[in-house]
Formats: sequence, C-alpha cells, structure tokens
Amino acid sequence: MIGDAKLTKARQSTAVCVGYMTPAGPQLTDSEEQPNTTGGMSDGVKDSGLDIARVIVARRAQIRVRVGLCVVIAIVFQTLTGPVPSLIWAAVYVAAQAAEYVTYRRVTPETVLDRRARLTFFAVMVASNMVFASFGIVEAIYAGSWGIVCAGLLWSGAILNGAIVSGESRLALAASIVPPLLHFMIVPYFVMTHGGSAAIAFAIMLAGLLNGVGAIAIWSAGLNLLRTATRASETARLAMLDPETGLPNRSAVETRFASMPQAAEGTVFVAAIQIDRFAHLRGAIGHALTVDLLREVAARFSRVLDDATVSRLSTATLCVDFVAPDANSALRTAALLQAEMTTPIALGDNRVDVSVKIGLSEPGDAVAHINDLSIVDRATIAVDQARTARLSVARFDPALYGSPGTNLSLMSEMTRALDNGQISLHYQPKTDLRSGKIVGVEALIRWQHPQRGAVRPDLFVQMAEETGHIAGMTAWVLRRAVEDQQALARAGIDVAMSVNWSGVVLNDAMLTEWALNCAREAAGPLCLEITETAIIGNPEIARQTLDRFRAAGLCISIDDYGSGLSSLAYLKNIPADELKIDKAFVMNMAKDPVDVLLVRSAVSLAHSLGLKSVAEGVEDQGSLELLAAMGCDLAQGYLIARPMPLHALMDFMNDRQRKAG
Ligand code: C2E
Ligand code: CA
Repeated sequence: MIGDAKLTKARQSTAVCVGYMTPAGPQLTDSEEQPNTTGGMSDGVKDSGLDIARVIVARRAQIRVRVGLCVVIAIVFQTLTGPVPSLIWAAVYVAAQAAEYVTYRRVTPETVLDRRARLTFFAVMVASNMVFASFGIVEAIYAGSWGIVCAGLLWSGAILNGAIVSGESRLALAASIVPPLLHFMIVPYFVMTHGGSAAIAFAIMLAGLLNGVGAIAIWSAGLNLLRTATRASETARLAMLDPETGLPNRSAVETRFASMPQAAEGTVFVAAIQIDRFAHLRGAIGHALTVDLLREVAARFSRVLDDATVSRLSTATLCVDFVAPDANSALRTAALLQAEMTTPIALGDNRVDVSVKIGLSEPGDAVAHINDLSIVDRATIAVDQARTARLSVARFDPALYGSPGTNLSLMSEMTRALDNGQISLHYQPKTDLRSGKIVGVEALIRWQHPQRGAVRPDLFVQMAEETGHIAGMTAWVLRRAVEDQQALARAGIDVAMSVNWSGVVLNDAMLTEWALNCAREAAGPLCLEITETAIIGNPEIARQTLDRFRAAGLCISIDDYGSGLSSLAYLKNIPADELKIDKAFVMNMAKDPVDVLLVRSAVSLAHSLGLKSVAEGVEDQGSLELLAAMGCDLAQGYLIARPMPLHALMDFMNDRQRKAG
C-alpha cells in the first residue's frame, strides 16, 4: 500500500479516533477503529464506545455540581436524620464520584471505548447512583413524612439528570434512572410498615412512575435534537470533502480562501495542478488505482510544502496554496512540485509515470472585468493557459483570458473575420539541413481584431475546437494555403505547404472530402500537421482518414512531438511521414544538455520509424549546427525566419534565391 500521510491527515481531520486504555486494560477493537462517520444518524439508538464516551464527558462536566449538591443535601438532611448517616452517605458518594473522575479523566468525546470498558463504566454508574439514591431510604425510615417528601425530590432530580446526561445511550439512561426508580418503588413498603396510609404509598409509587415516563420523554426529545444537530454537521462536513480521496474539495478551498487573512510575509499563491492525460491514465489503471494515485500525488505535494493541505478541485485537478516572496520564487516552488513527479508512482506491482501542468494565481492578479473570478478559478484557468501555451507552469494572464462576454461573441466574430480580411495566413519557412535550401513553409493563422488587436492563434484555435467552429476555419486555411502555394508556384517558388490539422476534425467526413478535393489543386507537396487533442473522437475513423490522405499523396506530420500530449502509443497509431519535434525542447538546446539528448533521441526515433525529422523553434546558430550534426532533416524557427505574410515570403524567397545564385 502506498504511504499516505495526507490521507491519514484528511481522515484525522474529519473524524478523530483516539485509542483509550482503561486502567483495567480494555482498549480499541479492530471493528471500532473506523471513525463513526454516521454518528447519531443511525435509526436505532446505539451504545457504541463513542456514545458512552460522550456520557462520561457530560458527567465529568457535572461533577462539581453533583458533589456540591451532595454536601448541601447532607447538611439539610442531618437535621432530620442526625449527622452520622448524613456524613457516611456524603463520604461514600463523594468517594464514588472521585473514583469515576480519576478513572475516566482522559476520555474525550472522540474516545472509542471497547465493550469491557463500557460495561465497567455502567457498573460504576449504577453503583454511584445506588449510593446517591440509598439516602432516601434512610430518610423515609427515620424522618417521617418530611423525609419521604425530600427523598422523592432527591430521586426526581436524579432521574431528570440521568435523562439529560445520557446522550444517545439507552444503557446510560437505564443506569441513571433505574436506581432512584427502584427506591421510589421500595419506599411505599417502608411507609406501610411504619404506619403510613396505603394512599400515600400509592401516591409515591405513582410519582415514581410519572418521573420515569417523564425522564424517557425528556431523553427522547434530547435525542431527536442531538440527531438533527449531528446530521446537519455531518452533511456540512461531507459537503466539504471529495468522496473518493477524502481530500478537501473545491467548496472547502473556496470557503478557506474567502476567509483567509493576508500573509504576513510575501503573497499567498494558489497552485492548481492538473494531471496530464488523466482520462487515458484512468482507462489504463482503473478507477481504484487512480484514486490511490491521486492520494499519493497529494501526499508528495504535501511533503514538499511542509504539510500544506492539498485539495481536489475536480477529477484531474488538485490544489495547494503556499506563501512566496514574489512571483519568481512561486514559479520555483511550482517547479519543485513538478520535480516531485519525476519519480514514478508505485501502485501495487505497477509503476506509473505522471506529469502535471500547474497554473498559479495570486490575490492581486484580477482586473476589473474578472473580479468575479475567485483566486481558485484563476488558478484553474491558468492551467488551461499553460496547456495552450505548451508550458508546464503558467501564471494567470488576465489579458489572455479576455472578457467572458467578448469571448462568447469571439467565435461568431471569427466566422465573419474569415470573410472580411481580418484573418489571414502567415508562412514560416522550413529549411533542409543538408542542402540549406528552403523546401517548405508552414501556414499559421493570424487574426488582426479591430478592437482587441492581434488575437493569439492558440487562444481562438482552441476555442474553435471547443465550439465546433474548427472545421470551417480549417477549410478556409487549407483553401487559402493552396491558393497561395499556386501563387508562389506562378512566381517560380516551389515549396511544400504545411497546414495545421487539429485532431478534432479527423472525424469530420465532410471536411475530409472537401480537403481531398482541394488537395487535387495543390501546386506542390501538401502536408498536414496533426496535433493531438484530448478528443480525437473515434480513433478508427481518424486512422482511416489519415490513410485516405496519404493515399491521395498528402504528407502527414506528427506535430509538437514530446509536448506531453503525444505518446509512443499515439506515434504507433498514426500513419505518418514526418515527426515534428516540439519547440520547447529545441529552443533550449544551447542551454540544456538534457534537451540535446531528448532531441537526439527523437531524431533517431523518427528515423527508425521511417519518418523525416523536423525541429521547430530553432532560435540560434549553435542549435542549428547541433541539429545538422545529429542528422535532423528539416529546421524551422526564428533563426531562419519568423512567420510572414505571403508578399514578404515571396521577397524572402527571391532574396535567398538571388544570394544562392
Ligand atoms: P504550432 O503548430 O506548434 O506552430 C508553431 C508555433 O511556434 C507558431 O506559433 C510559430 O510562430 C512559433 N514559432 C516558430 N518558430 C519559433 C521560434 O523559433 N521560437 C518561438 N518562440 N516560437 C516559434 P503561432 O503562430 O502563435 O501558433 C501557435 C499554435 O496555434 C500553432 O502551434 C498551432 O497549434 C496553432 N495554429 C496556428 N495556425 C493554425 C491553423 O491554421 N490551424 C490550426 N488547427 N491550428 C493553428
Ligand atoms: Ca504546426
């Protein structure tokens, strides 16, 4: 089983279960170790260890009152019966109370007593109540009718008190009220044998019975109140917990942050941590192991952040908060959290690799139009922003989020923008690393919005994927790219044209037919760069579509390889011609030898699978030379050229041809 400090912590915080050993030795039994989460909600009245513990605590709270009352009674009664019986009675009763107090002083309302401890306590209670009530007999015998009246009052008080302190325990109720009731029943005998009338004897018995019935009524009313209160607090507690993992849930986190004071030093940062490919993972290892996995991930984060509370915001997203002096050190902490995931998680006999994306938010990062988003909302949006930007950690970016109202209208605006010239294509050249020639270009969509300015493609492409506008947009891009390739060809520039093809549209039969028709008009090689998305829909149809594209002469490229979405299984299932290594690795090659290793292995993997290798994001000469040395086929990046409009591309290509010639 996985070491699970956090889970233990969560459990302890929700229902504390303290083992208690009585002097006689009874302790927790196995069956009682589980917290009694339903408490008083059961239909039948229980005499569980917890119920008795509450009775003990209630009685302990009364001890001063009981002893004080005993002393007062002894003083009053010694005028009727003389000092000796009063003194003996008071001494025995106080001793019984002291013994009960000392024996059970460590019991708390959460202590679970075993059966033996419970029975011992009943015996102590009955004995002490017997002692208390026995004084009435003395009164009844020696103090005539006044003694009987006083004894009746004494017993009534004892019965009433038993009804109040017995909580949910029937046995405790019985132990409290049976001794005084017995005395009520016995006294009429003494009354009769000492010359009293039958009517008085009957009245005493009746008073006893009424007392008993009244006590039971009071006890049941108290029990109902107690159950209602327990149910309400249990419901409130469960509403704050994730039922699967036992971790605090989103409501708990939101409630906590709403009332959290400002950190004395530094700023409170909230990190939303999303597990990559969660649905795939759950499909592979099953539901139960996924829950264990989440708990282990939470436990690891908790260790990094000094036992901080980790919560579960949604199926695949955990959350933790921490204080950091500034944003840079918060980013470093996020990197530490990520580093915790580098060791695979052991689940039974399996070891599972887990990677995460982290979104950070802080109290001050809201702007006027998004003030209604909580700090937790902003952290979860930051995770999406990280994923979209292909970063592993991102701080919430209000500018990128835009205004929700505007975002809603953005897609209908996009449809219009495709026709009115606001949307255009830029082209980024790809160079052949052997010949040094530009052999292809990638078409990248651009949107110059009249009010918002340049809208980032990853923002609206993702929105188009989510809202079903992606097919129309893709069709537009392909048509424009094919037309521009024809224009380039007419200008004597022959390049392969690459178009980004979202995984979402692979299942779109109409778009596929349209693309196959369009491809017939292409003036040169046409390539589709397939980006894996969370929803590829039906993989079998996607595969057939790709086979049809290849049969029609189109080249298929696996885009963003290594970015976290693509996996070896994905590589195996996609019939492709080209592997495009994600820029995240290529851009850092000059600084990070690990990235060099990763890129080298991706290049050789591509070659072993019979694919061409393309490195995107080449920003410096050193990386370009390294790529050429490792046998990478094509390179694309700011070093060679930034994406540019068609006319600029023509100038660029002519310039290159002139220089080469
Ligand atoms: P991508 O397919 O990975 O495109 C490459 C992105 O990297 C482009 O960003 C490009 O401008 C950028 N890039 C190229 N070289 C460098 C470099 O040396 N350094 C750096 N830092 N960046 C470089 P862009 O144009 O912002 O596009 C972002 C993403 O938007 C694309 O990523 C692609 O997934 C999506 N996208 C763009 N156009 C289309 C489209 O027409 N259709 C679809 N479905 N997606 C598109
Ligand atoms: Ca691409």
